[in-house]
Amino acid sequence: MSYGNPSQYIKYLYVTEECRDSEYASQIIRNSKLPVTVIGNREHPTLAGRYPQNLTEGKHHLLLCRNRGQFFKPCPATREYTCCEYQVLNIGMGCPMDCVYCILQAYLNNPWISFFVNVEDMFAELDQAFATYPETFFRIGTGEFADSLALDSLTCFSPLLVNYMRDKTTAVLELKSKSVVIENLQGLDHGGRTLVAWSLNSPPIMEQEEIRTASLEERLAAAAKCADWGYQLAFHFDPIIWHDGWQEGYRSTIRRLFEVVPAERIAWISLGALRYLPSLKAIAGGRFPGSTFFYEEFIDGLDGKSRYFRSQRVEMYKLIADELARFVAPKTCVYFCMESEAIWKEVFGYTAEDRGGLRAMLDQSVR
Ligand code: SF4
Repeated sequence: MSYGNPSQYIKYLYVTEECRDSEYASQIIRNSKLPVTVIGNREHPTLAGRYPQNLTEGKHHLLLCRNRGQFFKPCPATREYTCCEYQVLNIGMGCPMDCVYCILQAYLNNPWISFFVNVEDMFAELDQAFATYPETFFRIGTGEFADSLALDSLTCFSPLLVNYMRDKTTAVLELKSKSVVIENLQGLDHGGRTLVAWSLNSPPIMEQEEIRTASLEERLAAAAKCADWGYQLAFHFDPIIWHDGWQEGYRSTIRRLFEVVPAERIAWISLGALRYLPSLKAIAGGRFPGSTFFYEEFIDGLDGKSRYFRSQRVEMYKLIADELARFVAPKTCVYFCMESEAIWKEVFGYTAEDRGGLRAMLDQSVR
């Protein structure tokens, strides 16, 4: 059963001293209807237990603070694999949902969730990037270290970003989520510069391994609404996981996707088989002892992450790519996230380079 809006899971709210008088932080505090604790600028929420056991409790705690680093930077990809050259906009860290395979469990050692309220600095950084590189076409995503929409009913952040992007003719924004908190997107004059994207999976994976996320039907219904509101869409089959009945699972999700969502609204669909840092297996294995997918056989990839054997990846990719090919619109770019040219060739019959490079393929599908 679906949990609904995942921001309901936040029970404790904190704000740093330097942000307590910010108009934006005050608005989030009012929206939350929670009592707020003011803490020092270098302090953090105090949680019982030690990392990683306290990751579960940390999902109840949200800290409003400043981002002291960069907001905007390239996605941390690996040279050995074909990368889409995405630009990451870092709006915060952590997420109230709890996917068993979530890489953030191993990346971030803070169990609490952070949201950065100094958005004026973020927009100044974006202004500067657009002014410095007027010839570059930017594809920007906020879903790298957080879910793009999970906290949106509290933060009302999406309208700020969608409105900012409206007239940026050399960029598109991708809001990627496993929630269906889309209310703030309705009625915005987005100028076609924002795509709304969902991660999809085989039904048993969504039900058992993605805790507090929206169900398949909810995600697809939300996507159909966004299409009605004029947004372009994207979908990510990532991580593709080997499990009993995976063939029918992925096929049924794809069939349902194209029954509910207009194919011509989909700009791109990515495929990526499960890959993980070795430390994640120990962390997630301890937190979710009922999950068994980490105990398949894996090899070490060139990026130090564990991956399925090539033959297994190709088998899964081929089935999914063949099923997608039955329904997908000609303009939609179907691509691999972090796979080698050899896999592209084996599954699609061409490499990204044959088509001008992945970046060009994606830019084309959305322009
Ligand atoms: S929705 Fe994304 S960020 Fe949130 S727990 Fe799942 S994988 Fe991690």
